Amino acid sequence: MAMTPDEFYQHALAATDDEDRLPLSRMTGWEISPFEQDGLRVTPLRPPVMPEAPRHGEDPAECGMCRKRDTGFWFNERWRLDRVAGAAVPLILMLYPRDHYDLADLPDEMAAEMGLLGTRIVRHMQALPHIGRAHMYRFGDGAVHLHLWFFARPEGQAQFFGSWLPVWDDLLPEYPADLADADAALVADALVASSGGSRTPEA
Ligand SMILES: [Zn+2]
Repeated sequence: MAMTPDEFYQHALAATDDEDRLPLSRMTGWEISPFEQDGLRVTPLRPPVMPEAPRHGEDPAECGMCRKRDTGFWFNERWRLDRVAGAAVPLILMLYPRDHYDLADLPDEMAAEMGLLGTRIVRHMQALPHIGRAHMYRFGDGAVHLHLWFFARPEGQAQFFGSWLPVWDDLLPEYPADLADADAALVADALVASSGGSRTPEA
């Protein structure tokens, strides 16, 4: 039987100091951590908030991602792929269903298609010059409408390995948008070749 929210909080609080701060995480000791442990401290642990705040798009009529169903670099009838502006890593792409679905509500056929598209997007990103690896993430805490993240890690930057990459992206200077657009177009062309669909929304 899982702990209730308050039981979990009390369980975690028992590991904190007199300011409700947890000790530094193991991740901050990793070689790939963007932060030195000296001078770093954890924010005080806050109690659970029940019920949780609504996410963006709980009401599909107010979902910004639904309004952008024709925006992107690649489309088929059910999915679209767009580039995330302002990225610091060479390329961040996002795959969305064109209609309003949360991950847990995705019909089986679309879930299967998402697996294929995700695999191929990673493959096509990793085929770009100077990309060491493409990471794929799904969080879902901020918005209802499913959006899968694809982060391209610059080749050779072993310091950016793993789960700190989105934090490094937040720290690094913005990557030139014209270069990212050109790489997004290459991925989109490769996706048309591997998976059909089109560069325009009238797929
Ligand atoms: Zn939506």
